[in-house]
Amino acid sequence: MRTKIQRVNPKKPELTKIREAAKLIRSGGVVAFPTETVYGLGADALNARAVKKIFVAKGRPSDNPLIVHISDEDDLAKLAVDIPNVMKKISRRFWPGPLTVVLKKSKIVPKITTGGLDTVAIRMPENFIATLLIREAHTPIAAPSANYFGRPSPTTAEHVLEDMDGRIGLILDGGSTKIGIESTVIDLTAKTPILLRPGGVSVEQLQKELGKIKIHPVLRGKKAKIVYRSPGMKYKHYSPDAQVILVEGSESKVSQKIIRLTRELKKQQKRVGIVCITKARYNADAIKIVGPSYQKFAASLFGVFREFDSKKIDVILVQAVPKKGIGLGIMNRLEKAAYKKIKAR
Ligand code: AMP
Ligand code: MG
Repeated sequence: MRTKIQRVNPKKPELTKIREAAKLIRSGGVVAFPTETVYGLGADALNARAVKKIFVAKGRPSDNPLIVHISDEDDLAKLAVDIPNVMKKISRRFWPGPLTVVLKKSKIVPKITTGGLDTVAIRMPENFIATLLIREAHTPIAAPSANYFGRPSPTTAEHVLEDMDGRIGLILDGGSTKIGIESTVIDLTAKTPILLRPGGVSVEQLQKELGKIKIHPVLRGKKAKIVYRSPGMKYKHYSPDAQVILVEGSESKVSQKIIRLTRELKKQQKRVGIVCITKARYNADAIKIVGPSYQKFAASLFGVFREFDSKKIDVILVQAVPKKGIGLGIMNRLEKAAYKKIKAR
């Protein structure tokens, strides 16, 4: 299969291009497209055969559910049942945007879309290309991140091509994604909403709007004997080929530790890459400053992983961030990618 890349103006998407992609979706094909979080690998969420193609292209285990993307709030009532009242508040405040809700699924959603679960994850994205594509396809679009399974999520069309060349027919190129990490996922099927994945919307924002929310134990580092409400949690994610070492502690302690670690690793003939928030006197094979804002850190993170892999870096030393605001989402991705975590003293 030849993979076509179609450039689309992100501010003023050309309708003919969107319609061509929408036609492909309607006929059961797979299209990669930008959202404000990361690029998605989309297919008609209500067509089991089309959704199957996503799993094949991505190499994703079939019990790992997909997020269904909508462009109109009315679609919610078609896809989900027993929708709690709090949903109104949520959609008013956070949609369109990087928040996914898990609800009881309706009959029209095929089991393959939800990884065999009776719940469905739904999000209304904000990205203009994404919403137009969904609208023109006249169907909700199931889309996981458009990376090959286990690789860092793509934040540019070039990243998608790296993983999906020859595996899908079309990539809509709308430039870099704004947020850079995936959506926040909350489960609304219990009395108190449960955070399943931190992301673009922060826990603090959710608490302000909803009051109490629970944090899933897996996110607090618990592993054993937990029933996985969110099967995606059990899979390794986001990993570059290089070994990631996460360094925690105060700014000055961390930079001293990184300098010492770099020296040791260089003695072992390793190629070292450093991801830090502010400039320091590092001497490594690749250095990326991803601050000063944590928004910028999130937006650059997956791209840096891919860039360092292409530079054949063996070990990536990353400065940890506080688990606040988008920092919780960043740390969740880093901890999943990390081979080990070190406290700088
Ligand atoms: P991705 O498609 O890579 O953005 O990942 C989607 C993630 O959303 C999955 O890995 C799950 O963790 C979560 N998810 C999707 N559907 C459900 C569901 N029905 N119940 C719980 N979590 C879900
Ligand atoms: Mg993913």
